[in-house]
Amino acid sequence: MLSEKIIKQLQRIVGAEYVSTAKADLICYSYDATQQQYLPNVVVHPGRTEEVAQLMLLANAEKIPVFPRGSGSGFTGGSLPIAGGIVLAMTRLDRIVEIDADNLVATVEPGVVTEQFQKAVEKVGLFYPPDPASLKFSTLGGNVAECAGGPRCVKYGVTKDFILGLEIVTPTGDIIRTGGPTMKGVVGYDLTKLMCGSEGTLGIITKIIIKLLPLPEAKKTMLVLFASIDGAAQAVSAIIRGKIIPTTLEFMDAATIACVRQATDLDVPESAKALLIIEVDGDREMIDKQAQKIAAIVQPLGVVETRIAETSAESEALWQIRRSVSASLRKVNPDKFNEDICVPRSKVPEMIRKVEAISAELGISIVNFGHAGDGNIHVNVMIDRKRPGQLEKAERAIEAVFKGALALGGTMSGEHGVGIMKSPYINLELSAEAQSYMETIKKALDPNNVLNPGKIFLQR
Ligand SMILES: Cc1cc2nc3c(=O)[nH]c(=O)nc-3n(C[C@H](O)[C@H](O)[C@H](O)COP(=O)(O)OP(=O)(O)OC[C@H]3O[C@@H](n4cnc5c(N)ncnc54)[C@H](O)[C@@H]3O)c2cc1C
Repeated sequence: MLSEKIIKQLQRIVGAEYVSTAKADLICYSYDATQQQYLPNVVVHPGRTEEVAQLMLLANAEKIPVFPRGSGSGFTGGSLPIAGGIVLAMTRLDRIVEIDADNLVATVEPGVVTEQFQKAVEKVGLFYPPDPASLKFSTLGGNVAECAGGPRCVKYGVTKDFILGLEIVTPTGDIIRTGGPTMKGVVGYDLTKLMCGSEGTLGIITKIIIKLLPLPEAKKTMLVLFASIDGAAQAVSAIIRGKIIPTTLEFMDAATIACVRQATDLDVPESAKALLIIEVDGDREMIDKQAQKIAAIVQPLGVVETRIAETSAESEALWQIRRSVSASLRKVNPDKFNEDICVPRSKVPEMIRKVEAISAELGISIVNFGHAGDGNIHVNVMIDRKRPGQLEKAERAIEAVFKGALALGGTMSGEHGVGIMKSPYINLELSAEAQSYMETIKKALDPNNVLNPGKIFLQR
């Protein structure tokens, strides 16, 4: 519970209409895509950086936990108010401040929705590649805090590769700027990169300076259906070995296809046991050649059918298959754990075989899809919590999958972060010394541990 006095102070900072303790509002901000739920004491919607700074001054002085939140689409519980306190909803800060076409740079507030920003820059012939599958609702602030990836990252890189600078409110209430709108800059530590992927634990992002690219002239989307998962996994390595880096190289296994088929009117023959959605972009002549080369490379690997989209509507229809995966899996099986391991690209076939072996050994359904082009596989462990022993099996499966990925030189998380969901496993990947180094940074910047406490690290 926060005292009446604190609530009044919050109302003075942001305006009474932007502070809510109504149960209905608290519930709306109590969960994210993990489906876990923690009620905050109050939800605050700041409209300016200075308000965020004043709020942090107050929270730090009174030792009140603050949980920054974009759209709450995170898969690891990063925005969950696990210790009550204040949910800091950043969605009112939603202006695109500037699109500077001369310098290929934009400045935005953190609450801008990813797809809206992409559409705004595309209108002036520019391009912002990072495209998490949640782009219709995730915010750019949340994308930076998680260093979000997405299908196009195989060719263009992840969110941090496009962030030139930030405005940040520190946990103790100062406002600082990192980096800037130049393509180079090496004065002092690279705090911009430190903030990317810091999961709202080191500072609150209130402005983002973003690098843009010229919009590619054209793109070509292909759907390739395979008779076996092995063929699809081998195709990923074969395409990269063929010295082609497609814009996207998305993968779905038989179980994922079956779930999407069950939940939508997906038109894919039963003989297809895996599929790849491949896109290439660039000038028209080049993409036609690349598409043909890709088709020739994958053909000997058990291709059932190749579909090439000729119009943007056809391309969108192919992408709809991929974007409907998360919702379809949840529809068919509400109890799923979505992990996002990443392995070196050439190890994708071996990793898939490991996951299959884990699934068979534990007698538990595991569904794989994801960004295979950069080795980032979404491994979904599907259970029925009501059945005795299923949760324990899921935990064993997840640990085995993480260990398998690490043994191949990979990581537990390519893009979803640690939050609270992966912190129990953090010792598998980070040494005690590495964790202590990171925790030293957290303690120095947030001495009272008020900003997003209890995330990433195991509480010692
Ligand atoms: C259907 C679906 C598909 C998805 N696909 C992808 C995908 O392809 N790739 C991918 O990377 N992720 C994906 N995600 C996960 C999620 O969408 C991303 O992590 C996204 O970046 C979260 O954005 P958000 O605005 O919802 O942030 P939230 O979930 O609200 O918050 C995420 C983290 O960011 C912090 N945060 C939010 N705003 C700020 C701020 N202004 N300052 C400081 N910290 C802040 C929060 O404290 C929290 O730790 C998917 C999620 C769903 C539900």
